[in-house]
Amino acid sequence: MTHFISTEESQILEGTFWREHTTRQYLSQVTGFSRNKVSSLVSNLLSHGFMQEVGPQPHWRGKNHHLTLNAGLGYLIGVDLGWTSVTVALSTANMTVLHSLNKTLGPYQDQDAVLACITTLIEQVLGLQEIQAHEVLAIGLGLPATVNIEGGLLSVEHLPQWSYAGIHTHLSRAFGVRVFLDNDANIMALGELWIQRRQHPQSEVENMIVIKVGHGIGAGIIANGQLYRGHDGAAGDIGHICIDPEGPVCHCGRRGCLERLASARFIVEAAQRQAALKGSSLGQRFLSPDQIRYEAVLHACREGDPEALEIIQRAGVRLGNVISNFVNFFNPSKVLIGGKIALAGPLLLASIRQTVYSRSQPISSRHLSVDYTQLNERSTVCGALALALLSAFRDAANPQPLHFLQP
Ligand SMILES: [Zn+2]
Repeated sequence: MTHFISTEESQILEGTFWREHTTRQYLSQVTGFSRNKVSSLVSNLLSHGFMQEVGPQPHWRGKNHHLTLNAGLGYLIGVDLGWTSVTVALSTANMTVLHSLNKTLGPYQDQDAVLACITTLIEQVLGLQEIQAHEVLAIGLGLPATVNIEGGLLSVEHLPQWSYAGIHTHLSRAFGVRVFLDNDANIMALGELWIQRRQHPQSEVENMIVIKVGHGIGAGIIANGQLYRGHDGAAGDIGHICIDPEGPVCHCGRRGCLERLASARFIVEAAQRQAALKGSSLGQRFLSPDQIRYEAVLHACREGDPEALEIIQRAGVRLGNVISNFVNFFNPSKVLIGGKIALAGPLLLASIRQTVYSRSQPISSRHLSVDYTQLNERSTVCGALALALLSAFRDAANPQPLHFLQP
């Protein structure tokens, strides 16, 4: 089936997406449309099979029917492309993940080789569920790059040959479906917003910062319930904030960047230096200091190795200092820390919290919570699925008709 939807219908579908079971009253609140207008739009979407009515269930307080997206609209593909691995997930239109696959990547340079790997994983995940490419509504892809969605521009550090058009063309040709790209931290924020709204529909988090710490450091910003991308799509690009003008040279050429002093590279280099010293606890744990990997240091910290704890704590204080500036500037109600750094366990979170609360203005932090992301390593891939669906709805109102499965 092919169907055009109006911008107003797209807003109703988007409002329905954010809640597991929604009502016409809630849709009227979030869209600002009158109750009559919502009823008319919902009737049309129900009759065309975009939405379904459910209930009322015995445990519901009211007797009203609730609305959900039709899970049979089609399938979504979410791709989380990191510096060292790629994850591909396949879900229904209501975000139930059917299968996901992960592959470790070597140090990559070549866009075509990485895209070939992603294409193979998508083919595999579709094959495992016996789903054809034409049954897919859209592909969402998050990658460690600054992405200007409106301009179709992309900037990956040190990889100028990577291009928005190249990725978009490759994947849309391979599968014949819509493809949407965004920065990985932005997408992580979208994934976390989705789970927060699904699980706590009464206390919606409208102002939130999600910080991804891995080989790079980036932030996704939710302002007034919307992903804030900035004028050129570069909002939240925090890795090169200077925290020590006399510090070591970063790969960007400047000195003392946050990314140089608190990311995976800092943690690995500090652990390697420490392990080479006589009598080092890390030296006893890792017999070849130059072979120490990021994840191994995080696990050592979790297991209570004092030197790993000290290194992670140093990274935590540096992150906390930068986060406290964001708290004073932006006054979020929630800061979430995501990426592999969460493997370090509760001590890192404690040192970030302590620094943030001690350095933020009391009025900015009195309602603030600082936690690890709720979806852990699945945040980005869930955000990519959400990006795929929300962008497909907006695109269908653009107007490019939406090909969906069930009328
Ligand atoms: Zn830098």
